[in-house]
Parts: sequence; C-alpha cells; structure tokens
Amino acid sequence: MSADADLRPLDLLAELFAGEGSAEYLGEPVTQAEHMLQAGALAEAAGAPDHLVAAALLHDIGHFHGTVTGRDLMEGGLDNRHSHTGADWLARWFGPAVTGPVRLHVAAKRYLCAAEPGYFALLSEASVHTLGVQGGPMTAEQARAFEGLPGAADAVAVRRWDERAKDPEFTTPDFGHFRPVLERLLLTAPSGPAGAP
Ligand code: FE
Repeated sequence: MSADADLRPLDLLAELFAGEGSAEYLGEPVTQAEHMLQAGALAEAAGAPDHLVAAALLHDIGHFHGTVTGRDLMEGGLDNRHSHTGADWLARWFGPAVTGPVRLHVAAKRYLCAAEPGYFALLSEASVHTLGVQGGPMTAEQARAFEGLPGAADAVAVRRWDERAKDPEFTTPDFGHFRPVLERLLLTAPSGPAGAP
C-alpha cells in the first residue's frame, strides 16, 4: 500500500473523515462525513452491536478512498462499485462482520426495492439516480439469492440507517466518539493482503 499504511488505521480514518469527508455527498444536503456519522449514530441509537455500528459508520468509505475511481465515475453514470472498494480496503483492519455489510449495502438497496413494497418511494432523488446506475431493483430470483448470502440481514440494517442518514438538521457526534467501538473491532493479527480476514 501507499503512504497510508504508515498511519495507524484509526488516525487514517479520522483524517479521511476530516479531509475527503468534508466533500459534498452526491447532491445530498449533508457532507459525506456527516452522512456516515449519522448512519453510525443511528445504528448506535438503535442499540446495534459494535460491528454494525462500525459498518454503518464506514459503509461509504469507498467514496473517500475513491478520489481516483469513485465519485466522478458515479456522477458520470457508471457504478463505481464503492461498496466493494470500501470493503476490500477495510479488510486490512476489520473482519467480515464489518466488511460484509459494507460490501452488500448497495445490493441491499436493490434488494429492498424488490422485496418491500413502498421502499422505493423512500429513496432520495440522488439515491434513485444511483440505483439506476447500480443495476436497478433486483429480480425476484436475485432477491432470493441475496437473502441466502452471509451478512445479508446486517446489510439490510445498514442500508436502512444509510437511507435515513441524510438529515441536515441532525447533529452527530464526531469521529472520535466512535473510536472506542472501532478499536474493539480492529484485527490484532498483522495485516495481510486486502481481503484477508
Ligand atoms: Fe451511504
């Protein structure tokens, strides 16, 4: 990896939230960092376990790390696969309980549009736009396959917080508030290649 390997993971994440995170979030009324902090805070308020609070907080990290491959492509109408990019990047430090829901949170949106009447109507305008880019609602067959994936239910939970985390009036705790949660989840083994648990 590049220079970011020299920073301790939580310091690096804090820097990303403060830096790239202050960018606007695909036309939503909150910044990218506010959106992710709100998702983490909603998970926490719901009494979610640590791994889900972390997954909600970090679910769009693929946008941050995607200065090169991310937002511009999305805005240009191509799926940037930010969920997979983010999950792969996080896998150096966090296990599948965290990275799984991050990986599946876009699929969970496509799933909910197929499985839950009325869900589509809840989506923000920007989210409807990206849904099209991401492949649209799943077919019934795809939805059944999704339900069988490990972490699918967790991804759906993250997706629901994701959808609500776009409120300009919602004041969240800062990144530092979540550090103890992330600390408890950090893998203690030496970091392997991306994707290794
Ligand atoms: Fe999001």
